[in-house]
Amino acid sequence: MTMTPPLRFETLAVHAGAEPDASTGAVAPPIHLATTFQHGPAGERIAGYEYQREGNPTQDRLEAALTAMEGGAAALVFASGMAAMNALLESLPLGAEILIPHDCYTGLRVLATEFLPGRGISTRQVDFTDIEALRAAISDRTKLFWAETPSNPQLQVCDIAALAGLCRERGILLACDNTFATPALQNPLALGADVAMHSTTKYLGGHSDVMGGALVFAHRDELFERVAHRRHVTGAIASPFNSWLILRGCRSLSARMAMHCANAKKIAGFLAGHSAIEAVHYPGLASHPGHAIAAQQMRDFGGMISIRLRGGREAALRMAGRLQLFVNATSLGGCESLIEHRASVEGPQPISPQNLLRISIGLEHVDDLIADLDQALAD
Ligand code: PLP
Repeated sequence: MTMTPPLRFETLAVHAGAEPDASTGAVAPPIHLATTFQHGPAGERIAGYEYQREGNPTQDRLEAALTAMEGGAAALVFASGMAAMNALLESLPLGAEILIPHDCYTGLRVLATEFLPGRGISTRQVDFTDIEALRAAISDRTKLFWAETPSNPQLQVCDIAALAGLCRERGILLACDNTFATPALQNPLALGADVAMHSTTKYLGGHSDVMGGALVFAHRDELFERVAHRRHVTGAIASPFNSWLILRGCRSLSARMAMHCANAKKIAGFLAGHSAIEAVHYPGLASHPGHAIAAQQMRDFGGMISIRLRGGREAALRMAGRLQLFVNATSLGGCESLIEHRASVEGPQPISPQNLLRISIGLEHVDDLIADLDQALAD
């Protein structure tokens, strides 16, 4: 984009990476499906591309959009959020230790316990809401903090700027999973993180029909080059079609997030006042322990809520089974509202409380959603 900066987020989200096609004037970005690109007799690149596993113009458009939206220096898009996470963590040196939060996406826990040890990377879980506990947990081998805020599924909030200060002091990398917040609500790089990670499968895609992941880097440095090389060789790049769908989702992200947040705020208030509910985890509630930090580092509080029911596992499953508009399904960030009993889907050693339901608030009319929740919670 050639307009004078700084452009506001909404404008960047619509235009970055989505400029009209120079060769046809097409306003909607084209999809380039080519796997290979003509080069000179000695492999000289003609237009900068060689082979799709390394890069392709449609993937470049999405990377440009994500770089602009996160205020980074460069981005890499992947086949899924897990592929993005894995590419970064696998790029750490042999013998490295990473610190991850107690509450985090279950895939990260599985990666850390089942796969990373075999590659010489160990993990410790620490309370990321307690900066002194983190400071005390650092060892000579600690190379990276993996923050996730708000966290999945308990919506815990950690202070990204405070973590970044500690990491800078100790020469440790800070990566932040920004999937729940999205760049519309929170920019970890502006708060001092080195890498922002996304499951673009969620709000960025926005329609529950595309899988992808991304890493956005604060600097185009040696770390970026190492991860880019790993992606090129191991082949976890996002396909052009998926990149195109996610780019399309990015363009309407601001409008969708505004409605996700407005609906979630009203629903969190309704649930917090309901006698069948023991606790509502939503950073927008003043009673949330991370509310003040969230209010500082987020522009709004997001569309994810989790609740704990007074009647334990039975009550949670009964409520989930009675809902008519909320679909029982995993994932989040689409137009439709979803609900999930996380303990049932977290594998043999679930960490989520048995009375917890995670809710992705969609774009339906909020009063219809509240009416559905109300009937599902009735005695
Ligand atoms: N991070 C968070 C916070 C998630 O919720 C998920 C998936 O649910 C992932 C990462 C993994 O992303 P993907 O499913 O696209 O691999």
